Amino acid sequence: MTHGSSNIQPTSDLPMRSATWRSIQWICLVCGGAEEIAPDEEAPTPPVCPTCHRLAVAEALAGLLGARR
Ligand SMILES: [Zn+2]
Repeated sequence: MTHGSSNIQPTSDLPMRSATWRSIQWICLVCGGAEEIAPDEEAPTPPVCPTCHRLAVAEALAGLLGARR
């Protein structure tokens, strides 16, 4: 039995990776979560997911309001 060459055959690939579903994956810099977008879309710059983006905006607004006083 040769166990060393068991990784060569791509018979059972990861279920998340499908050849039919074309999407671009990017990783959120803030929470590290994987986001998927369509190929004709572009990942935001900086790569921050909508949830973290909203949090960042809320935080920035709070900071602005706090600094304005
Ligand atoms: Zn995030």
